[in-house]
Amino acid sequence: MLNIKHEIPFVKDMMETTQSMWQLGWNERNGGNISYMLDENMVLQYINTTSINKTIDIGFEVKDLAGKYFIVTASGSFFRNIAKYPEKLLGVIRIQENGNKADVLWGFENGNRPTSELASHLMSHSVRLKKDPTHRVVLHCHATNIVAMSHAHSLVEEEFTRTIWQMCTECLYVFPEGVGVLPWLVPGTNEIGIQTAKKMQDCRLVLWPQHGIFGTGRDLDDAFSLVEVLEKAAQVYMLQAAIPDSKKQYIADKDLYEFAKVFKVIPRDGVLKM
Ligand SMILES: [Zn+2]
Repeated sequence: MLNIKHEIPFVKDMMETTQSMWQLGWNERNGGNISYMLDENMVLQYINTTSINKTIDIGFEVKDLAGKYFIVTASGSFFRNIAKYPEKLLGVIRIQENGNKADVLWGFENGNRPTSELASHLMSHSVRLKKDPTHRVVLHCHATNIVAMSHAHSLVEEEFTRTIWQMCTECLYVFPEGVGVLPWLVPGTNEIGIQTAKKMQDCRLVLWPQHGIFGTGRDLDDAFSLVEVLEKAAQVYMLQAAIPDSKKQYIADKDLYEFAKVFKVIPRDGVLKM
């Protein structure tokens, strides 16, 4: 276990989260990426925002994020190594006024640049912020059982969500809006970013089948734990699905309705049957 220390709290948070995700097997090699929108006052305490190390082309426009600060994982970074080399494998960027360029204010040393999935991240931030002003984090990983379930189960969103809710009682409480599911798409493109952000209108979790998952949240713990709960449910699904003659039972829809009533959540329409 690495002894994670850093004088900048949001850098330390990213080091800890990426290390936990790698230890869980969610981020092999250079798989996965995180972006975390930072409050300006927090950035000003630790970083000289008048000194621009370099400017990068975003490749599309996100005008509504102009002036916002993000700490982002580097393109090609191995999550296993981020806690060892945070100044190389993380960077703090500020989106320029025109929304199509970003200034690097800290990190990304040795010529590194932000994740190749920056399109999906920034478009998703833009959508989620309109839904929830406390939104801050987008993270992507290859959580093993979620990917496995995307091979084994129907990818109709309502069917996928219903099975997940049936696996563990807490799921309906943690994500009553269910799981958004994209068709398989080429990663690293603006197109997958646009499609992911569209799903983020209604969901904080978006599945990229046979690839991985996008999760969002108010902070790193919130986004991490959202994926953690989905991954647990997907693991339970895969474990029970592997026993061919096991007696199968699930939480009945009427019981999930009862649960929702007691815990004051509204299940997404069209998932549970009356
Ligand atoms: Zn990926």
